[in-house]
Amino acid sequence: MTNELIAALYVVPTPLGNLADLTRRAEAVLQAVPWVAAEDTRHSAPLLKHLGSAARTLPAHQHNEHEAAARIVDKLQAGEAVALISDAGTPGISDPGARIVAAVRAAGCRVVPLPGPCAATTALSASGLTDEHFLFYGFLPAKGGQRRQALEGLRAQAAALVFYEAPHRVLETVADMASVFGERTLVIARELSKLFETIHALPLSEALAWLQADSNRQRGEFVLMLSGAPAGSDDGEGERVLKLLLAEGLPVKQAAKLAAAISGVGKNALYERALRYREASASELS
Ligand code: SAM
Repeated sequence: MTNELIAALYVVPTPLGNLADLTRRAEAVLQAVPWVAAEDTRHSAPLLKHLGSAARTLPAHQHNEHEAAARIVDKLQAGEAVALISDAGTPGISDPGARIVAAVRAAGCRVVPLPGPCAATTALSASGLTDEHFLFYGFLPAKGGQRRQALEGLRAQAAALVFYEAPHRVLETVADMASVFGERTLVIARELSKLFETIHALPLSEALAWLQADSNRQRGEFVLMLSGAPAGSDDGEGERVLKLLLAEGLPVKQAAKLAAAISGVGKNALYERALRYREASASELS
C-alpha cells in the first residue's frame, strides 16, 4: 500500500455507517498524509485515531471553504499532501468540497479522487429501478413552496430521481412528491450500512401512509428514489400555456380551463398545477 504520496489533494470518501466500508486505499492515504482537511475535525478525530493517523487536521466546512482552499493550496505548493474528508460519504456530494477542489485545480495542483461510499449510488444499486438514467438531486429546498416548485421542475424528467432527505422532513417531502408526480414507484432507502437498514419500494400514492404506520420508518437517514416520468407523459405544452395565462393574470380556474382546451392536457391536472404555481409565487413574495 502507498506510503509515499505525491503532493496532491486526495478526495477520500469515508463510511456512511459501517467502518468496514472504508477502502484499503482510503485507509492508506489517511495514514500517510500530513494534513487532513475535514468538514468537522471533532467528528473525524475518532476515525483518524482508529487508523493510527498522525495527520494534523484543518477545518473545511461550508462556511470557510474559501479560506480552507487557500490554506490547502499553500500546503500543496509547499510539497505536502492533503486529504479531504466530510463527515460521511464522498466529499462534494451534498457536502462541502467542490469549491476547494475547484480552487486547487485552478491553482494548477493535482486532485486525486478515491472511489468509495456514497449514499446515492449505494441506494440506487439496491433500488431495482430500471430507468436507463438517473438524476442526482440531493436535498430539496426546506420550505414547502420552494420544494414543490423544485419538484414541478422535475415532473417531465424521464430519468430516475435521487434525493437526500432529513428525517424531520421526510413526511412532508413524500406528501409533496405524491401531489406533484401522481403515480410513480418510490424506493425508500433508510440507514444504509447500519443496523436498521431498510430498502422498501412501493407506489408513491401509498408511501405517506406506509411511513405514518410506524414511527420507526421515519427515523434515520434517507435516500428517496423515484422512477422517471413514463414515456409519452410529456405535457410540456399544457404547462407552457398555463404559465403564460397565469402570468397574464388570469384566475387559476380559467387559466387551467383554457390551457386544457388549447393543449389537450387534462383540466384537473392543470388546475392542481396552477394552484401550486400561485402558492409558490405567493411564498416567494412573502
Ligand atoms: N456526501 C454524502 C454522500 O456521499 O452520500 C452525503 C452527505 S449529506 C450531508 C447527508 C445525507 O446523505 C443524509 O441526510 C441522507 O439523506 C444521506 N445519507 C447519508 N448516509 C446515509 C445512510 N447511511 N443511509 C441513507 N442515507 C444516507
